[in-house]
Amino acid sequence: MVQRIIVAGASLGGLRAAEQLRAAGWTGEILVIGEEEHPPYNRPPLSKDVLAAPGTPEEALAKLAFRPRRSATGIQWRLGTRITASNLAARTITLDSGEELDFDGLVVATGLRPARVAAPGPRAGRHVLRSIDDALALHEALRPGTRVGVIGSGFIGCESAATAASLGCAVTLVEGRTGPMERPLGHALSSGVRDMLAQRGVDCRQAVSVVAYRGTESCTGMELSDGSVIDVDVIVEAVGSRANVEWLQGNGFDLVDGVECDSHLRVLGIAGQPIPGVVAVGDIARYPDDRNGLPARRVEHWATPTDTAKIAAPALVAGLSGQPPAEAPAPLPSFWTDIFGTRINGVGSPALAEETRVLEGDPDRPHAGVAVGYYRGDTLIGVVNAGLPASRNLHYRQLVLDAGALVTI
Ligand SMILES: Cc1cc2nc3c(=O)[nH]c(=O)nc-3n(C[C@H](O)[C@H](O)[C@H](O)COP(=O)(O)OP(=O)(O)OC[C@H]3O[C@@H](n4cnc5c(N)ncnc54)[C@H](O)[C@@H]3O)c2cc1C
Repeated sequence: MVQRIIVAGASLGGLRAAEQLRAAGWTGEILVIGEEEHPPYNRPPLSKDVLAAPGTPEEALAKLAFRPRRSATGIQWRLGTRITASNLAARTITLDSGEELDFDGLVVATGLRPARVAAPGPRAGRHVLRSIDDALALHEALRPGTRVGVIGSGFIGCESAATAASLGCAVTLVEGRTGPMERPLGHALSSGVRDMLAQRGVDCRQAVSVVAYRGTESCTGMELSDGSVIDVDVIVEAVGSRANVEWLQGNGFDLVDGVECDSHLRVLGIAGQPIPGVVAVGDIARYPDDRNGLPARRVEHWATPTDTAKIAAPALVAGLSGQPPAEAPAPLPSFWTDIFGTRINGVGSPALAEETRVLEGDPDRPHAGVAVGYYRGDTLIGVVNAGLPASRNLHYRQLVLDAGALVTI
C-alpha cells in the first residue's frame, strides 16, 4: 500500500516541507492540508508594500504567491480545510467536515495566529495582520488623515505604523513594555528606530499599554495606562502571536508554547522521546538552540520554515524507513524588516545577548548605515545592520558564522 505523509498547514512551512520530502527521496503520497482558501503565499509584504498598495485581491495574491519548485511533483493540496483533532498513537487526524484521515508520517506546520488585546470595549474597528485577507481589510481602512492606533512595537507593529504613516494616516504607536523592536534589536538601535518613526510623524507613546477601548459600536478611542485617551478611527493590534496547537490536544505532550522538538525537529512526547513519524517546521516548532547551547525556543522569522524543513523532512523520511536521522548543521536564524525604506537585517540570536557593541555607524541614525554586534561573554552571537549594502550584510553573516562553532546535530 502507498504510504502517506500529511502536512498540516499550507503556508511557507507546509510548502517547504512538501518540497523537502521529495528532495529527501519520499516517493509516497504527500497531502498538504490548510485552513486558508489560498495556496501558499508570502507574508512579509503584508505589512509593507502590499499593505500600502495591494491592487485588487487577485493582483495581491498574484504578487505574493509562491511558485512550488519544479522538483516537487505529485503533491496533493486540500485548501479551505481545518484539522480539528488528531490521534498521534493511532496515526489519524480529523477534519472540520468530520472526515478522518490516516497517515504514516505527519508534519506539523500550522504556524501562529495573532494574539488579541484583552482590553474591554467594542470589537469593531480593531484589526490584526497575519493573512492576505487581514491586509486587504486594513488597507481599505487606511485613508489619508485616518487616525490609526497601533498597539505593540514589535516587527509587525512598527512596519504597520510606518506604512500607515506613509499613506498619510495620523499614527499613534503604543509601545508597551519595550521600545520599537527592542527585544531583537537591543536598546540603542531601538531608540534609533523610534526616532525614524517620530521624524515621519508617528506619535510614539513609551512604556504604556491600552487599558480600555472607547466607543459604542466601533472603537473611537483608546485609554492608556498613563490616563491619557487617544482618539482613533482604526486600531491595529500587533501584540504577538499564539501557536495553532489546539488540534494536537489530547496527545499528552507539551503545547505550552508551540510544539517541543529535538534538534532534528522530531516532536517530543511527554517523556522527552521523539514521537515516531511526527516532525514540526516553521513558526510553531520549538527547538534547541544548538549554536549557543541554549534551551528550545521558537524562531518566528521567514527563514525558519525553510531552514527547519531542510532538517525535519529528511529526519521524517529516515525515521519512516527505520533509519536514524543524518547529521545536519543547526540553522542560523536571520531576519529582515523595512521601515520607511531602510532595510534592517539581523543574523544569529541578538535577543539572547548579554552585551552589545557598535561595529560601525551611529545607532541613533540607522538609515545612515549602522551595525551592532551582540555578545554572550566574548562570543559574537548576532549582528544587526541597518541601511548598509547587501555586501556588508553578507560580511556580518560570515562574522557570526565564524564566531560560533558550526554545530552539527
Ligand atoms: C505581516 C507579517 C510580516 C512579516 N514580515 C517578516 C519580515 O519582514 N521578515 C521576516 O523574517 N519574517 C517576517 N514575517 C514572518 C514570516 O512570514 C513567518 O515566519 C512565516 O510566515 C511562518 O510560516 P509558517 O508556515 O511556519 O506559519 P504560518 O505562515 O503561520 O502558516 C500556518 C498555516 O497553517 C494554517 N493552519 C493553522 N491551523 C490550522 C489547522 N488546524 N488546520 C489546517 N491549517 C491550519 C494557517 O491558516 C496558515 O495558513 C512576517 C509575518 C507576518 C504575518
